[in-house]
Amino acid sequence: MRVSILGATGSVGASALDLIGREPQLYQVEVLTAHRNAEALAQAAIRHRAKLAVVADPSAYATLKAALAGTGIVAAAGARELETAASHPADCTVASIVGVAGLAPALAAVAQGRRVALANKECLVSAGAHFMDAVRRHGTELLTVDSEHSGVMQTLEVHNRDQVAKVTLTASGGPFRTWSTAAIAEATVEQALKHPNWTMGQKITIDSASMMNKGLELIEALHLFDLQPDQLDIVVHAQSIVHALVEYTDGSVLAQMASPDMRVPIALALTWPTRRATPAARLDLTKSPPLTFEPADEVRFPCIRLARDAMQRGGGATAALNAANEVAVAAFLAKQCKFGHIAEIVAMSLEALERERLLDEPQGLAAIMSLDDEARRVAAMALSALGRRA
Ligand code: NAD
Ligand code: MG
Repeated sequence: MRVSILGATGSVGASALDLIGREPQLYQVEVLTAHRNAEALAQAAIRHRAKLAVVADPSAYATLKAALAGTGIVAAAGARELETAASHPADCTVASIVGVAGLAPALAAVAQGRRVALANKECLVSAGAHFMDAVRRHGTELLTVDSEHSGVMQTLEVHNRDQVAKVTLTASGGPFRTWSTAAIAEATVEQALKHPNWTMGQKITIDSASMMNKGLELIEALHLFDLQPDQLDIVVHAQSIVHALVEYTDGSVLAQMASPDMRVPIALALTWPTRRATPAARLDLTKSPPLTFEPADEVRFPCIRLARDAMQRGGGATAALNAANEVAVAAFLAKQCKFGHIAEIVAMSLEALERERLLDEPQGLAAIMSLDDEARRVAAMALSALGRRA
């Protein structure tokens, strides 16, 4: 199987390469891409005998070219080269770039009409209708690489799709699950980056701390599984062992469980519908801590409500939510705002865009990207307004 990985130097990319490295006879690595870490990318490309390595940032090209000299691996750089690389023939393209930066490359992979293993949830939050339309048009096999959604995929009975009553995604609750609103508002970057159960990239780790991640995942599930907003729910489950629950009209609930290891959903997306062995720790429920379930607290975690409102509002609201959140998370990581400001920036941005009547459904990629730009501009203004207030 020919595999390409967009975002090969990230957390999901590294887990995918780990699986590939364990069964090299199954896979031929075609393209690996990264933002600007040329050395890490070159190492991965050499180790996995990739054909092409691409950095999105042209300033990293010289380093990449030098590191690949004499290997026969082609080096390339820039946004256009990244998109071209994403359309390089592959039986499965893992889309694991973080943020809307990964949207155009993911769509280029979708246009191949083969298999896309989608980790980059921002694609569906920002451009869900457009993305799913492209998937249908090209006859692409879209498989999710998000643990909760993989859980849904495994428990959705194809023959009973119209008997699905409710889909529930579990949330670990993140590092601030038991914190007060006041303490959360003042949380430091170091505290927010300490996720109790998963090791992931910085952006999704901050999203997990604010629980915006679960809000994004509701919108992701809406599009992936063609559900209505009122069929989607979340529950806090601190142990991250049950990943999703699908309730049917007869009252039966199917749940998917696995130890929290992204290699389980990644492996399944690579080899679906077949399962292959993974190195993930086996579950022993007699030895695991008690499994607990509690409602999500939208007062302490307002990002959940913001995402839910945007999902219900529809149109361009989820694209704006995503862009404003990307700006807010980057500002928090750069210590330009407090943790509590993330939700405020998102809320202020959505309100401003609604006032300016800019939240109609954008038609096509150019319109989505221009709404994304506009939302980033408004979010930057909200950020500086909060700075003046502080
Ligand atoms: P990460 O930050 O570890 O890696 C991101 C990858 O994208 C890196 O290879 C980076 O070089 C590349 N990248 C970043 N910005 C880019 C840009 N502007 N242009 C081109 N490439 C760029 O992130 P991650 O944790 O691996 O997450 C990747 C995606 O998968 C995110 O959308 C995240 O929400 C989703 N996801 C991650 C996990 C997880 O366990 N890490 C689980 C579920 C879903
Ligand atoms: Mg998830």
